[in-house]
Amino acid sequence: MKISKIVIYQHDLPVKNGPYKMANANVNCLDTTIVKLTSDCGLVGWGETCPVGPTYAPSHASGARAALMEMAPNLIGQNLFQPRQLTRIMNGLLNGHNYAKAAIDIAAYDLLGKKIGMPVADILGGAVTNNLPSYYATAVGPPEEIVRLAVEKCGEGFPRFQIKIGGRAVEMDIEVIQKVWERIGTDMRLAVDGNRGFTTKDAVRLSNECQHIPFVFEQPCNSLEEIASIHQRLHHPIYIDENGIDIATVIRSISLGIADGFGMKVTRIGGLHQMSLFSGICEARSLPHTCDDAWGGDIINAACTHMGATINSKLFEGTWLAQSYIEGHYDSKNGIKIENGHIKVPKGKGLGIVPDEGVFRNEVAIY
Ligand SMILES: [Mg+2]
Repeated sequence: MKISKIVIYQHDLPVKNGPYKMANANVNCLDTTIVKLTSDCGLVGWGETCPVGPTYAPSHASGARAALMEMAPNLIGQNLFQPRQLTRIMNGLLNGHNYAKAAIDIAAYDLLGKKIGMPVADILGGAVTNNLPSYYATAVGPPEEIVRLAVEKCGEGFPRFQIKIGGRAVEMDIEVIQKVWERIGTDMRLAVDGNRGFTTKDAVRLSNECQHIPFVFEQPCNSLEEIASIHQRLHHPIYIDENGIDIATVIRSISLGIADGFGMKVTRIGGLHQMSLFSGICEARSLPHTCDDAWGGDIINAACTHMGATINSKLFEGTWLAQSYIEGHYDSKNGIKIENGHIKVPKGKGLGIVPDEGVFRNEVAIY
């Protein structure tokens, strides 16, 4: 089975009640990139990559499409039974741009699953659950709003709650965390995400003033070096998120002794093949990790769900999806939903979702 046709689409995903605020980004609408791969036996597979605006990470939507257009002509005719080899071929065509390669990788797994009649989770090693935990991530907001959300999401059954902080006075962030803790206690596991927005000074202060609260502190500062400089002075486990850009940096942060866990995104690391490798490395060092994506619709959500279902449940911190924040589904029947704080793994072959005819109208390139 070989790739015979590649179509790249641009698609706008509206954000509900936007903008969504993070330490370094405001998001009103998501510009997502869809890849439709057709095989020489006539089957179709879908992939997606959706950077959350141009400032969250070095990835951005136009960059994804440019990278895909750079690789696409030389991907025609490549073998779809060899996902590992496909990753090597893409690396031989373009340096970096893992987030763009991920869309091809995901579509290739979808096609492989459809061809051999297996869900993607089984190809990746087998699902350990068919109902995986999600977690709720807030935007950066005032204490009363975040406490209200914490109570609501706890009631809905979310096992974990991630508070976004940064981009404002640290006193406000400390107040938010303390008030959520006073109200929720251990009813949900807590994570606090600085999204690279903290100075080392404020990260140390926040950890000091909240040392009685058992949260994990995700990506407080901009770089691994900044985090390394304060790691020993913090009272909280550090999870690396934005700095985990590829397998090499994951290994580096573990070697530096500054990663107590990871927030990881399937597209940032380069797709399902690379994510599976990452999860194996974490398991070898007993490091907890999430399986998320930046943003995106049903295709990326299905990919994260299949991958998340394969992760050792003792180390799995959940799958975050943008579904709570975006309008509509690509697949009106089987679209991925979060219910009671959990996500059901789609049952069909491949990714188990098929976008409704005509959802994607803006064809950017065809090969
Ligand atoms: Mg994060």
